[in-house]
Amino acid sequence: MKTNLFFALLFCPFFLLAQISDPVATEVWEPTARVITPGQGQAPPSDAIVLFDGRHLDHWQATDSSAAKWSIAENAMTVVPQSGGISTKKSFGDCQLHIEWRSPAVVKGEGQLRGNSGVFLQSRYEVQILDNYNNKTYSNGQAASVYKQYIPLVNACRPPGEWQTYDIIFKAPSFNADGIKIASGSLTVLHNGVLVQNHVEVMGTTEYIGFPKNKAHGKAPLFLQDHGDLVSYRNIWIREL
Ligand code: MG
Repeated sequence: MKTNLFFALLFCPFFLLAQISDPVATEVWEPTARVITPGQGQAPPSDAIVLFDGRHLDHWQATDSSAAKWSIAENAMTVVPQSGGISTKKSFGDCQLHIEWRSPAVVKGEGQLRGNSGVFLQSRYEVQILDNYNNKTYSNGQAASVYKQYIPLVNACRPPGEWQTYDIIFKAPSFNADGIKIASGSLTVLHNGVLVQNHVEVMGTTEYIGFPKNKAHGKAPLFLQDHGDLVSYRNIWIREL
């Protein structure tokens, strides 16, 4: 027994050294990454849920669960002011979201009243949509801000009337059985391919007045805001993570 231990201790360093000098020792073959097909051009990847492909609003509804009332033309849907925001019928948790939006070519209004809409993850956490091309407003409420929580790193807005993209990576907050938040959510946002929110910690719900709230919730729909402006959307897809 003692002899075995002696030899084990004697050869152990040599064994470790052999491991360190062998590149094969650090290769991982299992599990393997699932194969998907990335989209060509504007097309979604093969494992995405397409929420809007320009043809119908079947995946959407009004907040009272009646049919979504936004209009569709030329493969885009547009806010019908005062008809209310629209929600996905399906609920989501952690996700990667691709969404394209366009503020009206005819510029009307100033500050928050120009091309305002919003992408609300889990119907609670807003990435602001606003025409901020030569349009000043409070920085933590401009386009690509996490509304009233984080100023975007840069203003990557295209001119009004041009299509813009958001690619959003969202980690949902988690709550324990007592309803206490035990892990914050996070958001990473690319605006027209440019990093504008770098894994920021979501403080809580988006509030126009007052502080963010952290009431427990589970998966929830994606919500798009009607702020009274003719903002359009197209090519919306999501990947559950
Ligand atoms: Mg908004």
